[in-house]
Amino acid sequence: MTHKVDNLPVAVIGAGPIGLSAAVNLLEEGLTPLVFESGACAGANIANWGHVRMFSPWSYNMDPNAVSLLKKAGWEEPALTEFPTGRELLDRYLLPLASHEKIAPHLHLNTRVESVSRQYHDVLRNEGRAQAPFVVRVSSAEGERDILVRAIIDASGTYQTPNWLGAHGFPAIGELAASASISYGIPSILGARREHYAGKTVLVIGGGHSAYNALQDLVKLSEQAQDTRILWGIRGASVDNIVRSPENDELQERRRLEVHIQTLLEQGKIEVFTHIAIEKIQSDNGKLIVHSHSHPLPPVDEIIAATGFRPNLELLSELRIATHPATQSPVHLGPLIDPNVHTCGSVPEHGAAELSHPELGLYIVGIKSYGRAPTFLLKTGYKQVKSVTSLLANPDDIEATVENTPVSCEARVPSPCCNK
Ligand SMILES: Cc1cc2nc3c(=O)[nH]c(=O)nc-3n(C[C@H](O)[C@H](O)[C@H](O)COP(=O)(O)OP(=O)(O)OC[C@H]3O[C@@H](n4cnc5c(N)ncnc54)[C@H](O)[C@@H]3O)c2cc1C
Repeated sequence: MTHKVDNLPVAVIGAGPIGLSAAVNLLEEGLTPLVFESGACAGANIANWGHVRMFSPWSYNMDPNAVSLLKKAGWEEPALTEFPTGRELLDRYLLPLASHEKIAPHLHLNTRVESVSRQYHDVLRNEGRAQAPFVVRVSSAEGERDILVRAIIDASGTYQTPNWLGAHGFPAIGELAASASISYGIPSILGARREHYAGKTVLVIGGGHSAYNALQDLVKLSEQAQDTRILWGIRGASVDNIVRSPENDELQERRRLEVHIQTLLEQGKIEVFTHIAIEKIQSDNGKLIVHSHSHPLPPVDEIIAATGFRPNLELLSELRIATHPATQSPVHLGPLIDPNVHTCGSVPEHGAAELSHPELGLYIVGIKSYGRAPTFLLKTGYKQVKSVTSLLANPDDIEATVENTPVSCEARVPSPCCNK
């Protein structure tokens, strides 16, 4: 890299917990972050699931370097063993961090990154590629502009690109047409969306903890709005294996939720449909009929798609990225987190080497780095950015990471899974 490129800032895409952690760690390394956040505040994705209680405690949810910074400014640390909701994570940690005097000047809210490339290089062109700065196209109320940076840390999350209901990976026939009656993620069933679901027949699709959260809230709602009927569709053959987390699970909140759902099933409060593979969604007299393996399910008013998320790789399409064919995570990380292989994400320690791409100086971090794998923990993301930022502080080592052999599965250290 030329001296000129070395003096440029590092772009961080997204001011979620991992993007802000990247900013903290870059500053600590003596580098200048430029954090672009499309939302009106930091943690804009989390604000969508603020009502959900997290299954990891505060001690897992905060970056130790950010905690030190906040403490110096007189911030009061939450009780480390307690489990915050998404909203509490925002109010007690993320928003104070975003408004910290060292972070705030580097944060550009309401600013969306549209694309990233190398200056004067599309994805095809080799000559002088490694020496060219990155160019980031951003859009905001002031219009579009291009900004030059020395490296890219993409922490833009996956929440804005949920998976479809369709069993083939693309939308089921009729899914787009039915979108007014489909919610992707975990809607606020007991809060803002209460009237929307009260007294309705609601089908929840998905076998992870997001589905459990939605089912738990729907059962509570049905105790007040008695005509509420709850259907649950899963891909698997049975619901015998709901309580998967060990009794001494560090993430006790996750086990509590599993046990609660098991109890609700035993009480007959949820009607279960197994082997679900949705091909078609039909509208019929104001109801939705979901077809699975060519058979119709009972008519419903609403569907909640708790089917997970996928990374949006479009904004990186002019860069040379290498992704794992199944997980769509960085190629070296894929084998370590592939849910086809690891049923309960025991994920090894990993860092810049596993997160590297053929495009030197580009890193996808945070939940986006897990692609379609559902096992990401914030704690892992904080370690990722520590490794990446320390490598960026010494650019000569960037080349070395690409040569590194990724950690083998045998070298895995146990860490709890967090299917949502
Ligand atoms: C319901 C739910 C519960 C979870 N519970 C836990 C838990 O208990 N424990 C745990 O460890 N993890 C949990 N997770 C997983 C994970 O930790 C969170 O998803 C976390 O928010 C990921 O942080 P992130 O910074 O990688 O991404 P995000 O928090 O999604 O942040 C990405 C940011 O990027 C912004 N952005 C997106 N695109 C652009 C763009 N083009 N330009 C600029 N900005 C952009 C978004 O607005 C957002 O603010 C949970 C996830 C969900 C959905």
